Amino acid sequence: MGGRQIRTESLECPNCGASIPAPDGQGVVVCRYCHSTIRLSAEGGGSAPAIVDASALPDEVRDLIRGHIAAGRTMQAISAYREQTSLPLKQSKEAVENMAREMGIELPKPSSLPCVLIPLGFLVWVGLIALMPFVAPWVARQVLGEGVSAGTVETSRALLPIIFVVVSVAVFFVALGRSRKGR
Ligand SMILES: [Zn+2]
Repeated sequence: MGGRQIRTESLECPNCGASIPAPDGQGVVVCRYCHSTIRLSAEGGGSAPAIVDASALPDEVRDLIRGHIAAGRTMQAISAYREQTSLPLKQSKEAVENMAREMGIELPKPSSLPCVLIPLGFLVWVGLIALMPFVAPWVARQVLGEGVSAGTVETSRALLPIIFVVVSVAVFFVALGRSRKGR
């Protein structure tokens, strides 16, 4: 995507000495042997990136993550790793997958449930919008009292779906923004 490419050469993990492939432009790599987070300097142009620092995964955190993996709690394992390293989801997932492979465990697919929930949630949402014209007179009576005019009911019939869509889209994007930030 237009950015310059860092030559992919292999690096040596400062923690365990294993040879690990240099990243394709990312600032952080995870050693697949000892799970250290290795921060790299993106400077250096064409040559291999320089290692800034490496922080090994504390034993107790590694044991905790292994416990989650052994119990099939993939999401908890990934979030424990993220919490410790503050790495993005993709890299944390890769690190946890590597740890599971070492343990000889096949991770359950954590993404299958949300994949079903997204279209399901969308259908419910569309269904609620379709219901809005029918509940609008009731809402108008609740908000404005029993003596609402027919004109007001008609207006609420038109306005309520719009208000609902605007509010739910706003809530969706606020929630999306929060989850992007990590927490
Ligand atoms: Zn290492």
